[in-house]
Amino acid sequence: MFLITTLASMSAGQQVLPSLLISLITIGFGFAFMEHKQPSPPVLKGQCPYCDTAIEVPDQAAGGADCPVCKKRIVVRDQKFHQV
Ligand SMILES: [Zn+2]
Repeated sequence: MFLITTLASMSAGQQVLPSLLISLITIGFGFAFMEHKQPSPPVLKGQCPYCDTAIEVPDQAAGGADCPVCKKRIVVRDQKFHQV
């Protein structure tokens, strides 16, 4: 890809800068796409108010979640875990 662009700019004479810009833009888009492809789901980290285990629950669980360890109901308030 880069080699082809370089060869094209060589044969085209003084078009090195535009070709270089196009290459950089292509690489930039590639990185943006890769980052977009692997989004890390937002999670809320903290300690279970019942068993003190370090847990994380999906951030979408605005109302509350169940502790994956002790299975008790946790209420999420102000980005922290509380007992029901
Ligand atoms: Zn727990």
